[in-house]
Amino acid sequence: MIKIPVSEDQRYEIEAIYWKWLSRYHLGEFLSVVEADTDLKELIVKDGEDRETALRKYLLSDSDKLAQIKSAVDRRGTKLNKKTADYLRARYKNYRDSQAAKVASVLGLTACPYCNQNHINAGYGRKGKFRFWGDLDHFYGKNAYPEMAVCLYNLIPVCKVCNLIKSFQKTGIVNPYDCKTESGIKFKTEFDETFDLDYLQGKSQNFNIVIDKSGLSEEDKREIELFDLENRHRQLKRNVQEIIVKSRAYDQIYEKSLKEEFELSDSELSAYIFGYTENHLDRVLSKFNHDIMKEFRC
Ligand SMILES: [Zn+2]
Repeated sequence: MIKIPVSEDQRYEIEAIYWKWLSRYHLGEFLSVVEADTDLKELIVKDGEDRETALRKYLLSDSDKLAQIKSAVDRRGTKLNKKTADYLRARYKNYRDSQAAKVASVLGLTACPYCNQNHINAGYGRKGKFRFWGDLDHFYGKNAYPEMAVCLYNLIPVCKVCNLIKSFQKTGIVNPYDCKTESGIKFKTEFDETFDLDYLQGKSQNFNIVIDKSGLSEEDKREIELFDLENRHRQLKRNVQEIIVKSRAYDQIYEKSLKEEFELSDSELSAYIFGYTENHLDRVLSKFNHDIMKEFRC
């Protein structure tokens, strides 16, 4: 639902972490595995290309390139040799245990990109170990597509709930690293009755929370269904009431004095009052709070 914004600096940094891990501990063996497996080699090494360069390019494939690899694997129609697949999945486990926290920390994610409802974060845990409190979702599953089990941008930092939901289902959604495709998903409220004055004052729960279905892409529709996004947000009526009350309470005069006192811009003030951030992955429910705020803000 929420794209992972990766700046040039962040991209450089996470790819450096990744390649340092791979080149220091696994490169020689990895190249031997590629050399010994014709199917994998065909995907990675093009004619006359230096093998190490080709492997680096492959493992750092962006979302478009990953989609092409998936199509190539589908066209091939046969499963990867079990020994090779096991090797790749074992490298993934090593990466997850030793590097995922560093990468998640550079990306600065604190909310799951699929649901924006649950926390994920990296930090020091017991015994001083740097840990990642979240899961890595294989955008293209590691059992169906072991060829991409270790590809950096196939590994999406997500919450445990979404990872579990997605692991059992076919997807057809957009890779959160694909920054070209914007999600059209928007939350809003809907009346049960024709008119309810108490609701408009934040005093009644006589409304439903829904997702605006107009103009959604097929990917958005699949994402809503896959992660059950509408039902997972339906119970947040108290948040909506709070936003309605705040949008009435903070009038122009009050806001002006707050902006001057704390030296805030319009957008900073709105973000603080209504509990969202410009990058929705900086705060759980940021997207939800933002959409509802837009609905009630005059
Ligand atoms: Zn989630």
